Amino acid sequence: MENPRCHVAVVGGGLGGLAAAIAIRRQGGHDVTVLERTKELSEIGAGIELPPNSTRILKRWGILDAVRDYSTEPDRLLLRSYRDGSVLSDVGLVPFMEEAYGAPWLLIHRANFQKVLAKEAERLGATIELEFHVTEITCTSTSIVVSSAAGAELRPDVLLGADGLHSACRAEIQQGSSNSHVVTENMAYRITIKAEDMQSHPELVSLLESPDINGWMGPGAHVVSYTLKETDLYNFVFICGAHLGDVVEMRDFFRGWDPRLRLLLDIAQGVSKWPLCTSIGTGEWVHPEANFALLGDACHAMLPFLAQGAAQAVEDGAILGALFEHVQHKSEVRDSLIIYEQLRRSRSTKIVQGSIANGEILHMQDGEAQRDRDRQLRDDAPFEGYPNRWADPVFQKWLFGHDVFAEAYESRVSHQESLASKS
Ligand SMILES: Cc1cc2nc3c(=O)[nH]c(=O)nc-3n(C[C@H](O)[C@H](O)[C@H](O)COP(=O)(O)OP(=O)(O)OC[C@H]3O[C@@H](n4cnc5c(N)ncnc54)[C@H](O)[C@@H]3O)c2cc1C
Repeated sequence: MENPRCHVAVVGGGLGGLAAAIAIRRQGGHDVTVLERTKELSEIGAGIELPPNSTRILKRWGILDAVRDYSTEPDRLLLRSYRDGSVLSDVGLVPFMEEAYGAPWLLIHRANFQKVLAKEAERLGATIELEFHVTEITCTSTSIVVSSAAGAELRPDVLLGADGLHSACRAEIQQGSSNSHVVTENMAYRITIKAEDMQSHPELVSLLESPDINGWMGPGAHVVSYTLKETDLYNFVFICGAHLGDVVEMRDFFRGWDPRLRLLLDIAQGVSKWPLCTSIGTGEWVHPEANFALLGDACHAMLPFLAQGAAQAVEDGAILGALFEHVQHKSEVRDSLIIYEQLRRSRSTKIVQGSIANGEILHMQDGEAQRDRDRQLRDDAPFEGYPNRWADPVFQKWLFGHDVFAEAYESRVSHQESLASKS
């Protein structure tokens, strides 16, 4: 690139870091280098839901079709009772999501999503440096030096920390303050099962054949399942407050649940476990002096109970890209980073809190409140807010209909007006 205005380094080649790289390179004008510690890009885990607030951004970036090639588009979101799997709430997603929000709700294997994002970032001219494990960051108001474990050094004009939950960048920015993330009592147990292993069980075939998102709600736990296209895998996430050692302990914990889930646990070969963390909203996202900011899980980790963590990281990237489009000189970066934090903090905090609250609805103990919840779900007649948060028309519109590009534009205009009024 000729005369880049700024060199932006992004620590972390996860979903958030790659989204930021795409967004900033799309506008041209800035060099982008993604620094990833692993040998290859290989998102671990299994499936991920891409809600319309995320896919609408992918559409704008011109990569929705590439993502669709690897995705399943679920017909319905079904919330079920844990005991027998009976449907309590049934929300149609096709064609509703496209009609209401201009983009679909998709399901994809994480590795495939990461592959599409990385390919697009590189096509746009971003450099992805693998095996660059950032171990030291030294910054002042005029310089940033990033060093790797292997002794490499980089001196970018701007540093974005997209290094996830245990972010070294966050530790650097929030020096001296207490950790702004907490480990919750919840654990996610992820299981993928080969479609062919399910085919031989007639009771499981209907799950396999219908492209729905299924959610079972029970005391202290919930389960989400869906098909993963292009992988021949069916994806399950069991989430509960109890710490279970292995599939054997899971079978014991879930013994009173839908017989199909018990059967699935019987045929499961293994499970990967994830302790779940959430942000508690404290701590700065932008370095007090340097052009250095956080995005994604590094600053707003959330429980996956609204399926929004990666979607919020994509929104972060989109806003950064839209703001950086107008950065003509390094001296303007800091204002953009401050506007970025102002825009993103309130929305992501509301989703962090909404995710915690949704966990309380999903994990209700059996009793009067749970019977009320189930009645409201069946009747679709809420009196204290919708127990199915995705079906609440007000919340849904706020969550899925949010236009990050309009938001970035408006904030830039009002920033320019305020600068003009001061001069
Ligand atoms: C069980 C579960 C289910 C979920 N389901 C959904 C869902 O359906 N929809 C959704 O939107 N979200 C979901 N999420 C949340 C989502 O996975 C995360 O929010 C998202 O992956 C965060 O992306 P990130 O890029 O910020 O961080 P990460 O994905 O953690 O990426 C960080 C990257 O930085 C690299 N890195 C770390 N430290 C360094 C270093 N020092 N130097 C260089 N590189 C470094 C890492 O190797 C990694 O590649 C779920 C989460 C869980 C746990």
